[in-house]
Amino acid sequence: MAKRKPSARPPEGVVKGPYLQSSVKRRIEALFLDNVGKVLSREQILEAARDPVSGKEPENWHQRLSELRTDDGYTILSWRNRGGLKVQEYMMPHTEKRLGAAKRVKPTKQTWQQVLDRAGHRCEWLEKGQKCGLREGESDPIGGGRVTLTPDHKRPHSVDPDADPKDPNQWQALCGRHQVVKKNYWDSMTGKLNTYAIVQAAPETEKRAVFLFLLEYFGYALEADGSIRKREGS
Ligand SMILES: [Zn+2]
Repeated sequence: MAKRKPSARPPEGVVKGPYLQSSVKRRIEALFLDNVGKVLSREQILEAARDPVSGKEPENWHQRLSELRTDDGYTILSWRNRGGLKVQEYMMPHTEKRLGAAKRVKPTKQTWQQVLDRAGHRCEWLEKGQKCGLREGESDPIGGGRVTLTPDHKRPHSVDPDADPKDPNQWQALCGRHQVVKKNYWDSMTGKLNTYAIVQAAPETEKRAVFLFLLEYFGYALEADGSIRKREGS
């Protein structure tokens, strides 16, 4: 009888501060480095990220948080990819940085503004002739959470590393969920679906359906008390 819960909740983090670093991103980084393996809430991140002089809360903290992932190469988990975390909770499991993360090209501010204007501040992901159309700041009815649009180079960086930061036609605005789809679901180098990433980005109900399918597939049964048992004869 297996009692181990893979999604057991990690301990709560604390805001040690004061964080006097000169940028929002560096203050958030310092908070996470003080709390490796611990849960941090949105409120704690906001507290650490606020301007040490004016006390003003930054509006763009979420963008800076994702830059710690994409540009600095840190692993920061959220409720989307770590069971046991609630919505608006985050955790840095270790301080290792992925190499090469800093080399990503981004559109200029002006180009990004042109892209957003073209997109009408809505996600431009196209699937079976249908646009996603989620608007910045709306709640995402499928993935949950608020929609944040970020720039995506239409041709994968792995295929065309010379993205032009000044050409709006090379970029599109994508919501967080479709950034994951674009980056992870289809690996254009191997031509394979990234099954793990699909499950990781799926809503909890679908994760649960996959979990139950796998238990059944591998011959396990889920008991009423939540424990798992190997079925007899399998
Ligand atoms: Zn979208």
